[in-house]
Amino acid sequence: MKGAPQAPSQVICVVRAVAERLRMPDDVDRLTQQSRAQVPAHIRFPHWHPAQLLLGHTGIAMLYTRLALDDIDWAIAAHAHLATALRSATVDTVGDLLHAAYLHSQIHGGYTKFLNDAAPAHVSAVRDLLNRISQRLRTDGPGLAYAEYDVISGLARGGRGLIIGASLGHAASSSTLQDVLGLMVRMARPILVHGEQVPGWWTDPQLNAAPEADRAAYPHGEFNLGIAHGICGPMSLMALAHRAGHRTPGMLDAIRTMANWVMRKRIVGEQGTFWPGRVAFEDETGKVGSTAPSVTPRSDWCYGTAGVARALYLAGRALKDPMLTQVSVDAMRSIFQRPYGSADIPDATICHGRAGVLLAAVRMASDTGHPALWEGADQMALQLARSFDPTTAFGYRYLLSQNVNGPAVDEPGVLQGAAGVALTLLSYTDARSGAPPIPATWDGALLMG
Ligand SMILES: [Zn+2]
Repeated sequence: MKGAPQAPSQVICVVRAVAERLRMPDDVDRLTQQSRAQVPAHIRFPHWHPAQLLLGHTGIAMLYTRLALDDIDWAIAAHAHLATALRSATVDTVGDLLHAAYLHSQIHGGYTKFLNDAAPAHVSAVRDLLNRISQRLRTDGPGLAYAEYDVISGLARGGRGLIIGASLGHAASSSTLQDVLGLMVRMARPILVHGEQVPGWWTDPQLNAAPEADRAAYPHGEFNLGIAHGICGPMSLMALAHRAGHRTPGMLDAIRTMANWVMRKRIVGEQGTFWPGRVAFEDETGKVGSTAPSVTPRSDWCYGTAGVARALYLAGRALKDPMLTQVSVDAMRSIFQRPYGSADIPDATICHGRAGVLLAAVRMASDTGHPALWEGADQMALQLARSFDPTTAFGYRYLLSQNVNGPAVDEPGVLQGAAGVALTLLSYTDARSGAPPIPATWDGALLMG
């Protein structure tokens, strides 16, 4: 980028320091297991899954795939992490491996046979999920669990792998993607619940796949909004599929319906623009007696302004709607107008930490060239680099509560660990230096682009 400052050398140094710590898959496994063994039993924390992209070696491999652009020796670490992931691969994780192997093949070549085998295996995994959901909707009527459609474990996650399979020329990936998009279009149609007409993405707390805690917190169900588990996930997936040339009847109308609803939930005040992460059934329908907690402004990827603003931007681009893209840019800018240092967003990692905000800012700044977004990204990248802790296993730890002095875990992965921070810092330095775009994106796994 003309006139852009050189990426701070401190940021590059930190990325390399993280990369050195994550280089050996066996060491990563051992240190991760040791750290998780210390997590108090009452704290819910996802299991380490070696083959997962968001929580395992598959995502860590993507860090070395990118680093191998600068020094091909790093490719050895990429292959080692992929090989370790492959040994634990399941039907559920084959799409994750497809994503990481595709990224590597686009940049460095190779993995042809693996990609040809993984694409059909991923199709059958997504087909099983689609069939289960469709069958239940036919027999039991409307209502979803967010895990069925979200980007962490549901159809939005599966859809990303299908877009990759389709780009490899795999016909069944394209046709299955059409069916996934078709179900998302159906989600945009209103449904009747407890005598009220409500959006079709209503989540039913009584479903087996619904979290136990939701039965008490949202006894009549809710409408999840954030990008991690909410309607912003399917909306982004449809917008990204549209960008990749996929069309299905009613898709743009569905994106419009979802974007309009997200716009109606927007809160603009002294603290900038933010959204409720979840909307209780009672709040959506105007019924009294809501048990939902009051809304606190969040800036993060999973439930905060950064993830929602990026999703709205992608929707606005698909719809060619400058009002939507402008609102999303203004929302993103507003994050940098409220305090956003380590005291305000204690966690450093992607999910609900500073790396997630930086990632969305880099994407939005690259797309729009907006100086305030670049300025915010510059400051956030430096802050992240300065919070690298050389006394810890991987350089960054995941906080188990929003307390910087509270318990924390040595976490290596993309979603809530050091690999995600390092990849985000690399996306920042690449974008800031004006490097040519990489032919495939790692952050597609987070529906950022
Ligand atoms: Zn989170």
